[in-house]
Amino acid sequence: RKLGYAIVGLGYYATQQIMPQFVGCEHARLTALVSGTPEKLERYGAQYGIPKTHRYNYSNFDSIRDNPDIDIVYVVLPNSMHAEYTIRAAQAGKHVMCEKPMAVSVAECEAMISACSKAGKKLMIGYRCHFEPYNLHAIALAKSGDFGPTRIITAEHGFNAKPDQWRLERPLSGGGSLMDIGIYSLNATRYLTGEEPVEVMAMESTDRSDPRFTSVEDRIDFMLRFPSGILANCVSSYSSNHNAYRVTGTKGWVGMEPATSYSGQRMSVNLQGEIHQVTLPFSPKTQFAAQLDHLPQAIASGIEPRTSGAEGLRDMRIIEAIYRSAAERRAITLTAK
Ligand code: NAD
Repeated sequence: RKLGYAIVGLGYYATQQIMPQFVGCEHARLTALVSGTPEKLERYGAQYGIPKTHRYNYSNFDSIRDNPDIDIVYVVLPNSMHAEYTIRAAQAGKHVMCEKPMAVSVAECEAMISACSKAGKKLMIGYRCHFEPYNLHAIALAKSGDFGPTRIITAEHGFNAKPDQWRLERPLSGGGSLMDIGIYSLNATRYLTGEEPVEVMAMESTDRSDPRFTSVEDRIDFMLRFPSGILANCVSSYSSNHNAYRVTGTKGWVGMEPATSYSGQRMSVNLQGEIHQVTLPFSPKTQFAAQLDHLPQAIASGIEPRTSGAEGLRDMRIIEAIYRSAAERRAITLTAK
């Protein structure tokens, strides 16, 4: 049977990107909604045929435990609410899909992993790029050796943040561009190398007179050193548009722009000085549907999801080190965990 998802938080990403994707799923279906706004429950409940008995608010959320149609809770709330709702979902006996960033601190990530493991439930982070064909192809190309051993990765992610939103309020976001969009640069360096960084050095540049940046950072760029000697240069910005990466080896490179977008990935490769575009066969299954289907498959086969809580925690450890490096103006050594 298809496993049932309850979506928690009916904001932009949930309603405009995730909920329309269940039609393309083989193992997942939308069975419940959780929101603090009755009007949204009514509107989306009617649109997706979710009965009133399967619509919840934040006060009666814990009664999802009595609903056998809910197997998985998908947390799509502001970052600082991820930990609470993941833990409550696990305690209600449900598996959890949680949006990125996993939470706002290493301590919260550890508490989430521990709550899910104690409840015997799976925890997966919504790192959709791990299910996107061009990103998977880039990983395979980097691994193939065709470009020689990887030496350099550059990754740039950013957008011009609109004012007056929770992303710019530290208590809700946990940080600025790095928590939101720079995490794509970071996560890409890890999946493209298959290695864990051992050292990080970061610099921040934020115009504190810009009313958007009173409590969170705008630019925070960072360099990562990987055990094989690869150095990654990463951009994270809330004041300019970027969505690209390039993996450079001794014989050429593979690049993507856009790289981690919702659709429309464009890949080019440079082999021995010749640049050409790579087009993959059309895949009817989107990265979103593949991500939604992956957790039910992991549950059925008893394996850890590809983007498990441990994966989210690894990014969060590095994120904390990036912030520390920028604040203390020095390189930070990362210990393998
Ligand atoms: P959004 O502002 O559109 O939605 C947030 C939802 O949370 C809203 O429905 C809001 O009503 C609700 N909410 C509940 N309590 C709130 C509170 N105290 N303050 C503010 N909102 C509250 O945001 P979004 O863009 O949908 O982002 C939600 C999550 O999804 C974030 O963690 C974000 O990082 C993640 N996200 C992931 C992707 C991706 O590609 N994987 C893309 C966008 C967002």
